[in-house]
Amino acid sequence: MKFDLFELAGQVAVVTGCNTGLGQAMAVALAEAGADIVGINKSAPVDTCRAVEALGRRFLDLRADLADIAVIPRLIAEAQTLTGHVDILVNNAGIIRREDALHFRVSDWDEVMAVNLKAAFFLAQALARLCIEQGRGGKIINVASMLSFQGGIRVPSYTASKSGVMGLTKALANEWAAHGINVNAIAPGYMATNNTAALQADEARNAAITARIPAGRWGKPADMAGPVVFLASQSSNYVNGYTLAVDGGWLAR
Ligand code: NAP
Repeated sequence: MKFDLFELAGQVAVVTGCNTGLGQAMAVALAEAGADIVGINKSAPVDTCRAVEALGRRFLDLRADLADIAVIPRLIAEAQTLTGHVDILVNNAGIIRREDALHFRVSDWDEVMAVNLKAAFFLAQALARLCIEQGRGGKIINVASMLSFQGGIRVPSYTASKSGVMGLTKALANEWAAHGINVNAIAPGYMATNNTAALQADEARNAAITARIPAGRWGKPADMAGPVVFLASQSSNYVNGYTLAVDGGWLAR
């Protein structure tokens, strides 16, 4: 059997929020498979840039706060101008706010929805327009969550945004599959990153979460590598609108 189904040489992938955590691991995995990377970050992606370049791949460093979607057309245009074409988008940047629903503030609602859902949609739209113009298809990978499937507690805007991400993944897949654009999502389970630092530090919650995961451990950023390369490569050409859980069995339980 040939394994070049996962080859990404000659492809360019935009990854948002890749200075750390899951985004960093996915950017490096895509580079390992042969893609050049365009990082869209608020903070300097120093380690990611170094890791991608050490693999002999190009890393283009674009900076933006995705809470403001006005920056998006410029970002995608700049990515195309500087790399020639863009083929893959990983909508990874995301934030979470924790508070009882009874006391949840408008600003915590708006900030989470702006980054997790609104920016993800308008980045996907910008990439799809470009892919149609380029005429060579494309791959859009959204980052969903267990809270695309479950309700969670004290995270209403996060749950709403990630449930929206899963719905949007299906909606966009339906509209763009005929253009050769695959839209899918990855729903990470409990992964050890900055995003879950508070949960990891809470001894009781940490133990309860670990006990409920069939795999018996929290996920690591590197657990995203295979799934993202699969969804970015020709291996998944007939996979449309699907949200793949990478959760150590959490949802199966
Ligand atoms: P993380 O370590 O907190 O990383 C989040 C990334 O998003 C960072 O690069 C961050 O940049 C970026 N970001 C946040 N707000 C941004 C903005 N306004 N503009 C541009 N970039 C922004 O979290 P992570 O765990 O790797 O999370 C990555 C994705 O996975 C998120 O969508 C998250 O919701 C999702 N997820 C995580 C888990 C988990 O267990 N960790 C589970 C399910 C889903 P800065 O560092 O500059 O703030």
